[in-house]
Amino acid sequence: MNRADGPPADWHRYERLRPDQLNAVVADAPVAYWPLGLLEHHSWHLPIGFDGLKADALCMEMAACTGGVVLPVMWWGGGGGHGPFLWTHYQDETAAGEVVATTVRQLASFGFRAVVVLAGHYPWQQTLDAKLEPVRRELAPDVLLLWGHEGTIAAPRVQIPGDHAAYWETSFALALFPERVDMAALRPGRSATDAWPGGDDSVAADIYPGVDTDAASPTFSQLGTDARTADAAKGRVYLDRLVEDLSGRVRAHLRA
Ligand SMILES: [Zn+2]
Repeated sequence: MNRADGPPADWHRYERLRPDQLNAVVADAPVAYWPLGLLEHHSWHLPIGFDGLKADALCMEMAACTGGVVLPVMWWGGGGGHGPFLWTHYQDETAAGEVVATTVRQLASFGFRAVVVLAGHYPWQQTLDAKLEPVRRELAPDVLLLWGHEGTIAAPRVQIPGDHAAYWETSFALALFPERVDMAALRPGRSATDAWPGGDDSVAADIYPGVDTDAASPTFSQLGTDARTADAAKGRVYLDRLVEDLSGRVRAHLRA
């Protein structure tokens, strides 16, 4: 998808480039997009890496508008109150925050003039606010540093609703990568062993309030309106606004 004024921009996966190619990217479009995710249960129909896959897909769309590079997804983070679920990896947030701040400083020192840190997992916000605000001040005005999740990174210009694995996240998934979504998996009848490590559902008490913790429910682990009512077209409308806004800001900064 391309929303740039001209032909699709040339963008790259950071880790696949050789040094000469990186020099050429920095000379041409010195912008780095970094998707942050988490491995976390996202109900029965979405991949456990949904947050990172969502952020990665959005970063690729922005890079298609501006050029530049997309860094590999940062999978290791934490926070949000879903830690006890099966297939969920919560890590120390202090360590994760240090990795992000250090990496952003390194990218700026390598010549990138815009860095967009897009978190697919909402609780990254607190860590990013704390760790990146000092970095932003340090690097301004030469480097444009933007961070946040899809609901905050372009607010208040772009207002994007959110939830957990429910109507909105599923609408975004259906808009971005329908091939990774299995709506038929949203069926009742599973047991505790399908949902909790060792089948021990006593840890459900530690899950964020309002999240469905009934393993037998088709909406298990969702927080929000039932994912079965999701609407890809509606998800696409919001995501288009986000991609347009952010890539526009990056282009304006790189032109200045
Ligand atoms: Zn999510």
